[in-house]
Amino acid sequence: MSGERYVYGFDEPTEGGRELLGGKGIGLAEMTQLGVPVPAGFTITTDACRAYMASGGDLPDGLEAQVDEHLIRLQEASGKRFGDPEDPLLVSVRSGASVSMPGMMDTILNLGLNDEATEGLASRTGNPKFARDSYRRLIQMYGEVVEGIEGHRFEDALAKHADDLPAVIEAYKQIYQEETGRPFPQDAKEQLGRAVRAVFDSWNTPRAKAYRRYNDIPDDLGTAVNVVQMVFGNKGEQSGTGVAFTRDPSTGEAGLYGEFLADAQGEDVVAGIRTPEPLERMHDRLPEAYDEFLDTMRRLEEHYRDMQDIEFTVEDGKLYLLQTRSAKRTAAAALKCVVDMVDERLISREEAVARIDPAQLDQLLHPRIDPSSTYEAVATGLNASPGAASGAIVFEADTAEDRAKEGEAVILVRWETTPDDIHGMIAAQGILTAHGGMTSHAAVVARGMGKPCVAGCDALSLDLEERTASLNGTTLKEGDTITIDGGTGDVIVGEVTLIPPDINEDFETVLGWADALRRLKVRANADTPDDAAKAREFGAEGIGLCRTEHMFMADDRLPVVREMIMAFSEDERRNALDRLLPHQQSDFEGIFEAMAGLPVTIRLLDPPLHEFLPPLEDATDDRMRSRIRALRESNPMLGTRGCRLGLMFPEIYEMQVRAIIRAAIAVRERTGDPPLVEIMHPLVGFREELHRLRALTLATAADEGEIEFLVGTMIELPRACIRADEIAEEADFFSFGTNDLTQTALGFSRDDAEGKFLTHYLQDGVLERNPFETLDQSGVGDLMEIAVERGRSVKPDIKMGICGEHGGEPASVAFCHSLDLDYVSCSPFRVPLARLAAAQAALSESGVEAVVVGG
Ligand code: ADP
Ligand code: MG
Ligand code: MG
Repeated sequence: MSGERYVYGFDEPTEGGRELLGGKGIGLAEMTQLGVPVPAGFTITTDACRAYMASGGDLPDGLEAQVDEHLIRLQEASGKRFGDPEDPLLVSVRSGASVSMPGMMDTILNLGLNDEATEGLASRTGNPKFARDSYRRLIQMYGEVVEGIEGHRFEDALAKHADDLPAVIEAYKQIYQEETGRPFPQDAKEQLGRAVRAVFDSWNTPRAKAYRRYNDIPDDLGTAVNVVQMVFGNKGEQSGTGVAFTRDPSTGEAGLYGEFLADAQGEDVVAGIRTPEPLERMHDRLPEAYDEFLDTMRRLEEHYRDMQDIEFTVEDGKLYLLQTRSAKRTAAAALKCVVDMVDERLISREEAVARIDPAQLDQLLHPRIDPSSTYEAVATGLNASPGAASGAIVFEADTAEDRAKEGEAVILVRWETTPDDIHGMIAAQGILTAHGGMTSHAAVVARGMGKPCVAGCDALSLDLEERTASLNGTTLKEGDTITIDGGTGDVIVGEVTLIPPDINEDFETVLGWADALRRLKVRANADTPDDAAKAREFGAEGIGLCRTEHMFMADDRLPVVREMIMAFSEDERRNALDRLLPHQQSDFEGIFEAMAGLPVTIRLLDPPLHEFLPPLEDATDDRMRSRIRALRESNPMLGTRGCRLGLMFPEIYEMQVRAIIRAAIAVRERTGDPPLVEIMHPLVGFREELHRLRALTLATAADEGEIEFLVGTMIELPRACIRADEIAEEADFFSFGTNDLTQTALGFSRDDAEGKFLTHYLQDGVLERNPFETLDQSGVGDLMEIAVERGRSVKPDIKMGICGEHGGEPASVAFCHSLDLDYVSCSPFRVPLARLAAAQAALSESGVEAVVVGG
C-alpha cells in the first residue's frame, strides 16, 4: 500500500476524527472501539471524496486496493465471502458527511446479492422469504440511488405483485433493464464500486448544494462512505429494527423514547411503511437484547455526555448498533437536558451554556401552535416574527383598533405596513403582509413588539373595495378567522389550538448560569412603561434606547404635534410644546419607575418632521398647504432629522429635556432613589453639533433643579465613527445605532433594499448575509472599531453600547463582546437570547466553543 491512506476499519483508531470519517463513520468507529456491538465494516474518508471531486471523477490512486484489503479483513471477520453464491457477505453502503445533511443520499442495503446468491442464502438460512425480500430491496435501492430510477416505478410493481416475491424480483429487474438499458449487475464488486461513486457524486447534486447554501455548509467538505456488514432485522419474529433516544427529544425528560418494528429492515421504520411499536414492547419479545440495549444507551450517553439518537437492529436475538449521534431536540428539551446533566455531573455549567442555541430560545418566548394539532397551510410567507396567533381578518389599522377595543382578536392583513399603522399593529394579535422582507416595516416592528408576523406572502392579494383577501385562490371576507405562524410562515384558514409561552425553571436556571459568565451587559430597547416592565422580567439591566417619537404618535397627541410642526412662529410652537410636555413627563415617570435602579437612555426626537405631516388633502387653507409643501423632503432619511431638528428648533429638545428632568425629580421624590438618566442626541456627525446641544441640555436641566444625568450621542454616521475622538470630548457615552449606521455606511436605504435589490443580492450570492439582520462586521464593524479606539483614546472610560436590532443577534453580540463594549441593547423579547449569546462569546474567548446540538 503506497501513498495516501483513504480507508479505515471501524476498529482502527485515527486522529482525523469527524472531519475525516464523517459523523456516521466516527460514531461507528467510536462505538466499535468502546466495545459496543456494531457490525464490522470500514469507512472511506472524506479525503478520498475530495480527491475524486478535484480530479473530475477519478477514484484516487490506491483507493481500490485499500478497499479490497478491507474487504478481505471483513471476510475474515465474518467467515463469509463477498460475491459467494452459497453464503454471501452482504454490506450496506452509507454516506456520511462531517455535518449532518439529512436525506441527501439514501443508503443501499443488502449489497452483494444477485440471482444465484439469493437462492444460496434462501437454502442456507432455510428462509426463502427473507432472502428474496432482501434481494428485491437491493434492486430497488440500487436502482434509485445509483441509476436515479423513480421510486414509484418499484412501488407500483410491489403493490401489484404483493407477496409473490419471485414475481416482484422479476418485475424489478425488468424495470431496471428498461430504465438503464442494462441488466441488473450480478457482480458484487461492480455493485460496490458504482455505489461508492454514487455516494461521491451525490455530494454535488443540486439538492445537496442547495441544502449547503441554505445552511452555510462549505462545499469542499466532501462526504465519507461507510461500508457496513449487513445484519438482518427481517429474519422473522426474533429479529427487528428500531430507533431510540436516550431522553425525550421533545421534553428532555429522562426515560425511554423509541420505536421497534419486528421482522423489518431499517428503512421500513424511517419510511413509515409500517407503524412501529413503542420500544417497551421489545421487552416481551426479546428480553435479553432489550436489557443489553438499555445498558448500551446508558454507556453511550455517558461517553458522549449528550442526548443520543440511536439506530439498532436485532438479528436472531442478537443486538447490533448501527448509528449514534447527538439528538435533535426542541428548545424546551435542550434546556431540560443540560440542567439534568449538570445535576448528574455529566457536564459543567459552562458546557451547558455553550450547548443552547440562542436563536432556538425564541421558540419559548411566544405562543405556539400546539404541536399535536393537525392543520393545512393555505399559503406560506416569510417567518418574519415568531409566535402564532389566531384572529379575525381586518384590513385597516383603525378597524383593528376598534374591534380590539371590543375585545375581539384580530389579525391585521395588509399589502405592507407603514408607521401610520402602528396603533393597528399594537391592537392586533398578529400581522400578515403580502409584500416586504425580513426587515420590512411590518417585520421589524412586529419583532420589536414580540408579535407574530408573516411578511412577503406572495400568495396573498387584497381587494380593499370588496373588502376581501385572496390566499392562493381561497377568498376570505373581513372578519373571517385565520391563524398565522410567524415561526414557520404558515397561514391557515380558521382557528388552530395555541399553547402559551413557557419560561420555565430550566430556562431561568440556564440563563442564571449565563449571567455569571458574561461580561457584556444586556439592556432593552423599550418605549413604554409596559415594554420596560417586560424587559425587566426578561432580565434586562437597563434601557439602551427609549425612542420618544412613539410618545408623539398616540391619538391624543398627534394633533398637538401637528399643530407644533405647522406653527409659523416660535411662540405658537412653544404653546403646542407646553401642552405635550406633561404627556412626555408622565411617560418618563412610568419608565423610570419600572426601571428603578437601572440606567435608562432616552433619545431625543429623531425622525424627520416629514413623518408627522398631515396629508396634503387634509390642509384646510393655503397657508397650511404651503407649510406642508415646505416641510416635505425628497429624501427624509438624510433630511431634517436627528440633532438637526434640535438645532433648528431648540424649543423641541428643550421641552423634552424639561420633561425628562421633571420626571426624574418627581420619581426621586416619590421613591427616594434618583433614576439613572442618560440623555442621548441622535445623528451627530460633527463635534460642534453635540457641543451646542450639550450646552442646551445642561442649561435647561439646571433650570429645573439638581439631579445627576449623562449626556451622550448615538454613533450612526460614518463621519461620527471617524471623528469619534472629537465627539467623545463632548459625550459621556456612545451608543452605536447600527440600523442607521448600516444604511449610511452601505448607502442602502433599508425600505428600498428589502424585497428589491438586497433580496436579489442575497439570492445571487453578491452578499451572503443580510446586513440589517447580522452586522456587516468587515465594513460597519470596522467603522465601529475605529470609533471605539478613537473615542477611548481621549476618554478611556467612556461608556459604549449598541442599540440597533443587531444587539439581539448572536454573531453581532459576539462582535460587540470582542470590541469590549459595555452593553448590547435589543427588543425585550430578545433579551434572554442576548444574555446567552453574550455568555457564549465570553466562553469562546476562554476556549469553550458553542456546540449547538438542538435545532
Ligand atoms: P440515514 O442517514 O437515512 O439514517 P442510514 O445509513 O443510517 O441512513 O441507513 C438507513 C437504515 O438502514 C437505518 O435504519 C439503518 O439502521 C439501516 N442500516 C444501515 N446499514 C445497515 C446494516 N449494515 N445492517 C442493517 N441495517 C442497516
Ligand atoms: Mg435515509
Ligand atoms: Mg441513520
